[in-house]
Amino acid sequence: MKSGFAVYPGSFDPMTNGHLDILRRALTVFDEVRIAVAYNQEKPSGLFTPPERVTIIQEVVAAEFGDRVTADAFHGLLTDYCRRIGAGTIIRGLRAVADFEYEFQMTMMNRHLAPDVETVFLMAGEQYFYTSSRLVKEVASLGGDVHGLVPDTVELHLLRRVGRE
Ligand code: ADP
Repeated sequence: MKSGFAVYPGSFDPMTNGHLDILRRALTVFDEVRIAVAYNQEKPSGLFTPPERVTIIQEVVAAEFGDRVTADAFHGLLTDYCRRIGAGTIIRGLRAVADFEYEFQMTMMNRHLAPDVETVFLMAGEQYFYTSSRLVKEVASLGGDVHGLVPDTVELHLLRRVGRE
């Protein structure tokens, strides 16, 4: 496994400034980060399809991070995906306490499946403590202002998708 190579998995439907904040922090610790959009059986239909989310992420990260950040979508177990691409670390972000229970369960299950893959948690800046893709989508679709909560590129895609542009 390549040290310094971490996977940042999630739904990213769509990428928010909270995700971006975690990514920036991750890059102070790791040389390379792969953003991995999961095909999630429990959330099959998103606002954007996983390939669309990957394209949006690529648009957002290209200029700022160059080839230190790549994006991809994956099916199946995250730990299998980590092994396939040779990444030894999973990055997850923590917001308020609400994230903890779920993240704790996922980490323990992933550790059971792959004891050699470590999960690392980072905390976003406090201005992003309440930013989530779910809320951003809801606000955008109800006509609210999402400026500053998502990268400008994402805002454009979002407004177009919910029929506000
Ligand atoms: P999932 O559907 O797996 O929760 P998300 O796309 O919602 O995926 O998020 C991916 C990761 O980024 C998760 O670890 C989540 O906790 C983290 N994250 C998302 N938004 C924020 C934020 N505003 N601050 C900190 N972490 C965040």
